[in-house]
Amino acid sequence: MQVMVANRAGFCFGVRRAIKMAFTAARRCPPPIYSLGPLIHNPQVVRRLGEEGVGVVEDLDEVKGGTVIFRSHGVTLEEMNLAQKRGLKVVDATCPFVKKAQKYASSLSKKGYLVVIVGDKGHPEVQGILSYIKGEGLVAGSAQELESLSGVKKLAVIAQTTQFYKDFQEVVSQALLVAQEVRAFNTICDATYIRQQESVKLAQEVECMIVIGGYNSANTTRLATLCRQVQPNTHHVETEQELDRRWFAGVQKVGITAGASTPDWLLVKVKEEVEKI
Ligand code: SF4
Repeated sequence: MQVMVANRAGFCFGVRRAIKMAFTAARRCPPPIYSLGPLIHNPQVVRRLGEEGVGVVEDLDEVKGGTVIFRSHGVTLEEMNLAQKRGLKVVDATCPFVKKAQKYASSLSKKGYLVVIVGDKGHPEVQGILSYIKGEGLVAGSAQELESLSGVKKLAVIAQTTQFYKDFQEVVSQALLVAQEVRAFNTICDATYIRQQESVKLAQEVECMIVIGGYNSANTTRLATLCRQVQPNTHHVETEQELDRRWFAGVQKVGITAGASTPDWLLVKVKEEVEKI
C-alpha cells in the first residue's frame, strides 16, 4: 500500500506562531498562565501545554492575575480591553491574517459601510471580528442571507479566514444586487486555501483519504468535507488509535492530510500506523 502525505499538511504559520509564543510564555512568565479558550482546536496539543503550566479558562473573570494568552483566531475587542484594564500580562497570539480582518471591520464600518462577514456566526474568530465593527454588522453563512436586504448604500464584504472561496464569491455577487456600492476584501487565508487545494488533489488520486485534526477544528472539518466530495472513503480522525482496518481493505493508495491546527508529531504517528496496516 502506497501512503502519500499532502504537501503543506499540518500547522499553518499562525498556529505554529501561537504555539511557539505559548511555550515561550510557559518558560518565561511566572505562573499562573492561561489561554482564553483552548489555544488551538487540537486536544492533544492543549494537553501538552497544560503539562507545561498553561491552563485554559473560558472567561476572563476566571483570571485574577498573571498572564493570559489570546488564541490565533483572536478575541473580542471587549476582552482585549478588559485584560488590559485588569493589569494582566497579555500574550497576543492572534494570527496577523485575523488581525487584518479585524482592521478591515473597524475601518470600513467607520467609513459608513454595512460590513458583512462571511462566516460561521458562533465561531470565536467571527465574534472577534464582529466586535471591531462600529455600529451594525452582519454575519452571513450564505448568499441567501443577504436576500432580505435592499437599498443599502454602502456595503463591504470580508470573510472568516477559514471560509470557502465559493461562499465568499456568492455573497459578493449577492451584495452587488442589494447595494449601490460594494467593496470586497478577500480575507480568506492562503494557508487554508492551499491546504484545501492540495488535499482535494490528493484525494482524487487515492482510494482512501485520512484527514487528521481536532473534531472541534473548523478548518479540519472543512478539509474532510471537501475530500469526501471527491473520495467518499474519507475519514476524519484525531489520533492513530481511531484508524479502522476496514477502511483500507483492497486499497492500493492512501492519502493523508491534516488541518492547520494539527501538530507534525500526530501526523507522523498516523502515517506510521497506516503503513503498519
Ligand atoms: S489558518 Fe491562516 S488565518 Fe488561521 S491561524 Fe493559520 S495562518 Fe492564520
